[in-house]
Amino acid sequence: MGEIVFWTIIRATVVIPLVWLAKDYLDYSVWWMAGMLTLYGVIIHPAILHYNNFRARNHEVIEETLCTSCKHFDKGSVLCLKHDEHPAKDYLPCEGIDWEPKQTDLEDEHIQ
Ligand code: SF4
Repeated sequence: MGEIVFWTIIRATVVIPLVWLAKDYLDYSVWWMAGMLTLYGVIIHPAILHYNNFRARNHEVIEETLCTSCKHFDKGSVLCLKHDEHPAKDYLPCEGIDWEPKQTDLEDEHIQ
């Protein structure tokens, strides 16, 4: 996840000044549209694709491990917040010892 953010920032750092410089060479309406398309195509769209690939690669960890139901698990970054490590399908940083149910799981038990 950090890699996606890093490369998005790098692309933005390069592309935004280039788009800004292009303002002097293009008609404003063309520059505005081309600038928006460039920002989307070079910065936003690749970040979305990389994030979707990241989610697909980690689908099993997100949906099918003990961490899935743990309150210390951040699904967005596939990270154990308690141990600051990335769990894998066959590796839990706490080995199950520090598992705690999410608040929503506790609420579901009270409802039943
Ligand atoms: S505390 Fe254990 S079960 Fe909970 S997210 Fe971290 S590794 Fe997974």
